[in-house]
Amino acid sequence: MLSVVGIGPGSLDLLTERARARISSADIIMGNERYIGLIREIIPKDAEVITGKMGTEVERAKKAVELGRRKNVVVVSGGDPGIYGMAGLLIEVIGDSHTDLKMEIIPGITAASVSAALLGAPLSNDFAVVSLSDLLVPWSEIEEKLEELAKMEIVVVIYNPRSKTRTVQLEKAYELFMRFRDGKTIVGIVRNAEREGCEIEISTLEDLPDFYHRIDMSTTIIIGSSKTENIGGRMVTRRGYERRYDYERREGDTAIQGHESSDYAEAGNRIWEKSKAIVEDIVSKHSGSFSEHERRIVERVVFANADPSLLDLLVFNHNPVEKGIECIKEGKTIITDIEMVKAGINGRYRKRVKCFVNDPRTKEIVEKENVTRTAAGIRLAKELIQDTIVVVGNSPSACMELFALIEQDIKPALIVATPVGFINAAEAKEKVMSTGIPSIAIKGPRGGTPSAVAIINEIIEIANSRLK
Ligand code: SAH
Repeated sequence: MLSVVGIGPGSLDLLTERARARISSADIIMGNERYIGLIREIIPKDAEVITGKMGTEVERAKKAVELGRRKNVVVVSGGDPGIYGMAGLLIEVIGDSHTDLKMEIIPGITAASVSAALLGAPLSNDFAVVSLSDLLVPWSEIEEKLEELAKMEIVVVIYNPRSKTRTVQLEKAYELFMRFRDGKTIVGIVRNAEREGCEIEISTLEDLPDFYHRIDMSTTIIIGSSKTENIGGRMVTRRGYERRYDYERREGDTAIQGHESSDYAEAGNRIWEKSKAIVEDIVSKHSGSFSEHERRIVERVVFANADPSLLDLLVFNHNPVEKGIECIKEGKTIITDIEMVKAGINGRYRKRVKCFVNDPRTKEIVEKENVTRTAAGIRLAKELIQDTIVVVGNSPSACMELFALIEQDIKPALIVATPVGFINAAEAKEKVMSTGIPSIAIKGPRGGTPSAVAIINEIIEIANSRLK
């Protein structure tokens, strides 16, 4: 009989009863030195112990299969044997011959669950697990998975983050996540969970490098989603109860509130669904011909303003949406004319947004050159503008300044222009639209921050969605 036994993280009281029973009736126990060490005190005295080092797994698997036909062999694996453990390899080695061999797999508590429990409840909603070890899997494959996951609304658990020799993988993973997630995303780090020297940290994505020196092969990292919070020193991913029920403690409360708020939530959903249906209906009846992606943008702008007349004013020049999607996927910078536009942009992308209107240097430019602050802000962005996205949501003079830069051959990849006003707004927009650069604009004096934000956020959402 061959038993592949998960021994959990190391603490013997987290071993399952079945695992303990198999170990105590074993003739032979096999495993790497580290795991054997963790269960040493429950190994029967007369059992033979065969240890092996990391890297000798295949050899050990063959030997286990061979011995298992005659004796009770227990192969121990840390955590769960089926999660980056020995179970898969043993099945492969057994193949479809060795039909006389009885084999069973006994699950154990894996590092993800034990680390999660120590941190709080970060895996309360969907999560993915990735090992950064590229000993058996090419790094390009791991990197691809990380990138797709970083873009998704999902918690990511990282196994094998860093060893003495493998250090760049974690740095690369960090850079990828910083590209697609907010730097303030909650991150949990657990080292030596349920073993001697246990360390538990709750921090943020942007501060992860501060912990590199303490991250090793006995560490699990959990990168939260936008729904993950630090509540009272515990890491938790909200699953959605808070949207249906009202139970949070408020100051002065003595008990947790229990009243249901699902009625309000449902009413909210119904209103939203209905408005969306109205907008879709309006847009579908319009004579303008929009591409699928353009239609999504048009709907969002009409929705944000509750104003169907904007349909006739929105213009798309030179395939701007596809250009925008390309830029977002590449993680390009967005420059905005005012802080309010920046504040409205999708939280996860906001760290890539720059606005110079409050830069102290604008003051000097305003005084010397007699331009507006927003125009000065665009001028300060001069070095960054080439090939980026510029979103002007409010200020006609910022739009004029952008046009002046384009005339000097400084060309953004995409312009979103919805500045408003009776003075110069219409003209400024016509000017940038005439440059041949991909642009999305609202013609005439109308526009404003909500429209600019609606346009760029829809592009970001399309770029990040897998349903393209
Ligand atoms: N089969 C094991 C995982 C083996 S891969 C399991 O199910 O847990 C080894 C990785 O697991 C380590 O690099 C680390 O990321 C994680 N790990 C295993 N034990 C751990 C522990 N006690 N504390 C923190 N992480 C642990």
